[in-house]
Amino acid sequence: MNSKIAILSGDGIGPEIVAEAEKVLHCLKQEFGLSAEFEHAPVGGAGYEAAGHPLPEPTLALARQADAILLGSVGGPQWEQLERGLRPEQGLLGLRAGLELFSNLRPAILYPQLADASTLKPEVVSGLDIMIVRELTGGIYFGEPRGIRYRDDGQREGFNTLVYSESEIERIGRSAFEIARKRSRRLCSVDKANVLECSELWREIISGLGKDEFSDVELCHMYVDNAAMQLVREPKQFDVMVTTNMFGDILSDAAAMLTGSIGMLPSASLDSRGKGMYEPIHGSAPDIAGQGVANPLATILSVGMMLRYSLDQPELAGRIEDAVGKVLDSGLRTPDIASPGIQVVGTAEMGDAVVAALRAV
Ligand code: NAD
Repeated sequence: MNSKIAILSGDGIGPEIVAEAEKVLHCLKQEFGLSAEFEHAPVGGAGYEAAGHPLPEPTLALARQADAILLGSVGGPQWEQLERGLRPEQGLLGLRAGLELFSNLRPAILYPQLADASTLKPEVVSGLDIMIVRELTGGIYFGEPRGIRYRDDGQREGFNTLVYSESEIERIGRSAFEIARKRSRRLCSVDKANVLECSELWREIISGLGKDEFSDVELCHMYVDNAAMQLVREPKQFDVMVTTNMFGDILSDAAAMLTGSIGMLPSASLDSRGKGMYEPIHGSAPDIAGQGVANPLATILSVGMMLRYSLDQPELAGRIEDAVGKVLDSGLRTPDIASPGIQVVGTAEMGDAVVAALRAV
């Protein structure tokens, strides 16, 4: 089947890193039988410049038609003064909401070759391979009512609403259990059920799913404060974690930082049918944009996730992961992952090296 891939490069380093990921896609198409067509559209600041909106209508239409979306990154100082609805980040939020991408997969993998990059001791993190499944379209970031209002005594108060329906909890839970099934069949659900009613319901629904549909997966529950502590103390105890939007936002950044290399980590956001948007976890890095030094590996590994989760090509995904491992073995490093005395290369050289390694494996 010919898959349609929407390519949204975005802003800052986005176009530079996506160009390298496209080299990999073209190589897979020409030499490894990937059947796919690619179409480009602007998003974020680029969308605003092209069409006056961070998510132009044709971009959303393309994303809806596509089987998968590859996104670079959005944002930059030149758009920070725009009114909220026109800022680049709205392009991203609009895509997530418009396509109902409720399940955010954030792997935190530490390649043994980069164990020194972590701030934790190598024996605590070397070989780390965690998958955090974060609910992405509900919870306190979207709950209504919200706002800042005046109280009777004249003071202002800010308020937000934490709300999850049974069906929202069920669909993210199912997504996480299914991923756990494809890995080591261990799932840790993170909540704050000792304080929040919303978490109480979360725990009840996740437990029910575990009992009724996924009894082959070992389920445990952990309070979020303990989970944060355990992630730093003994991160390798975890395999798949599932949690709410806000807790996942915080825990997945902490887990990413355990690896010490923001330029290495991919992510996926999926809908209920497996269609997804794939992007590096980092932003548009305006401080290094245009210099040809950004690390493209997170974006290239995002293509790997796309092949695994949306295009049903796990063998090609494995080839990409192997090729990245080989390139790291060979000692090539972009500046963000370099250590003293090691060979430093730029964005394009790193992309070329991955393509060469793909051809060689
Ligand atoms: P950032 O992730 O862009 O950068 C943080 C630091 O990491 C910077 O020093 C940057 O140079 C470095 N870095 C990031 N990616 C790198 C890569 N591939 N290779 C080498 N170094 C890399 O975060 P920020 O500086 O807080 O945000 C910059 C802009 O990106 C803001 O406008 C923000 O809103 C936006 N942002 C977008 C996304 C997204 O598109 N998903 C995510 C986060 C931030």
